[in-house]
This record gives sequence, C-alpha cells and structure tokens, in this order.
Amino acid sequence: MDAHSARSSSPRSIVALLLGVSPLLCGASHQTTNFVVEAPTREVARKVGEHAEECRRTIAKAWLGRELPDWAVPCPVKVKLTGGEAGGLTSFGFDHGHVSDQNMVVEGRLDRILASALPHEVTHTVFAAFFGGPMPRWADEGASLLSEDERERKRHDQIALDLLARRGEIGLGELFRIDEYPKDLMSFYGQGYSISRFLIEIGGRPRFLRFVRDGLESGWDGATLDHYGLADVRELDRAWRSWHRGLLANRNAPPANEAVLAYGEPVDALPSRNPRP
Ligand SMILES: [Zn+2]
Repeated sequence: MDAHSARSSSPRSIVALLLGVSPLLCGASHQTTNFVVEAPTREVARKVGEHAEECRRTIAKAWLGRELPDWAVPCPVKVKLTGGEAGGLTSFGFDHGHVSDQNMVVEGRLDRILASALPHEVTHTVFAAFFGGPMPRWADEGASLLSEDERERKRHDQIALDLLARRGEIGLGELFRIDEYPKDLMSFYGQGYSISRFLIEIGGRPRFLRFVRDGLESGWDGATLDHYGLADVRELDRAWRSWHRGLLANRNAPPANEAVLAYGEPVDALPSRNPRP
C-alpha cells in the first residue's frame, strides 16, 4: 500500500480514523519531544520515535530552511508491523490556519517504515505546518515521495515513465485541481511525484512551496509565470513533458537526490505575489 495522507477539518473524521486502527494487544509506548509512538515492542517504539525526530529536523530544514518549533502536543504515531511493504496515513485537523490535530499510522516491515513510510509521513506534517491548511494533493503526495529512499523514488520514476508511455497522464491544469484522491492512486502518485521532482530540480524546494501556495491562492497560470518564468500551465505542461523525454532517453540517470534537490534559501526569504499576514 502506498503511503498517503488524509486531511480534514472535521474532528469526526479523525475519530473515525482512530477507531479504524486496530488496538495494540500488548504494545509499548515511547515518547520523544514531538512524537508519542505506540508499537509492538519498546525497542521498535524507540527506533521509530528517534527516527521521526531526525526526519522532522532534516526535512523541515530542507524545505523551509529552518527547523520547526516543538509542537505543543506530540503527534501520536501508531506502528503496525507486517511482513509487507511500507505504507502510512496521516490525518490533520486545521483551525484558523494552524494544525489543531495530527495523527499518524505507519505499517510494514520495520526497515521499510524507517526508510520510506516514516520520512514520507513526517514530510506531510512539515507541509501541514507550513500551509496551515490542506495542500493540493498532487503536491502533498508528490513532494512527500521525494523524502522516501532511492528504491521508492526509482519505482515512482518508472511508474511515471510507464504512465506517459501509455498516454495515461492527465493535463497539469486538471491535476492541479484534484482535491480528492482519484481511483487510480498509483498513476496519481506517479504523476504527482514526477511533476514535483521536475519543479524542484529546476527551482529548488522553497520555490516549489511558494508556487504551490500562490497557485492555490490566486491561480496556477500566474504562479507559473511568477515562479518559473513560463507563460502558463500549458507551457509548464510542455516543459515537464520535454524534461520527461530526457529522462526516457537516459533511463540510467540517478533518481532525485540531495545533489539535485538544492536546499536553496529559506522559504520565507522568497518573494510571494500574495504574502500572508
Ligand atoms: Zn502521503
């Protein structure tokens, strides 16, 4: 199962989510500054808690240029160990532009949780803190996938290549407007990942966040022109496809990594067309 997040401002949906989580029969708990982890054993809870803190530090610095302040209430994390691939779910409640609730579930083999699901889900918490409200799904998922390990990034590169090869992709103008998860999750994740990787490779992470924020607030064409110097989303779509053809021509190229994902300047230092108060 792919990791994904669900966000809602309705406390009822969060309660429903929590009720849907199987209770741990004989689990253990470990609390760090920002996470309280329930897992089958104390050792697993400790490992997940400590790695979550490390991810929180490095991912916030990579995207925002700074660490997040400590949360007033630690984020609950439930760990379900299975023999399978990793997946996860993080739900958020928002109140007046701030995160009011957050709950995380990760599952799979422990090594896959630590390498893939946990960094992915922690990235959602960094974005939620930055946006103070729901982030467009394609960007939230696509950019969170960039926090996963090389194996997952390569897998999503391949999903995107296959998607374009069979012309299964949708236009970026349509992708940017999707606010609920579509039926074909794998294609949606693959395309979201690909366009996020492209935008970050050409402009860095902070610019990407500004683009998404401005696109959401005042329209994607204007945000495309302001942040990437392209006339509109149709031009951006063409540029992305052209970049993709380059990937196709060089399938052995390394996937997105720290070398190409320049940290850039702190996100608050970048100009915004519509700065928030
Ligand atoms: Zn996700």
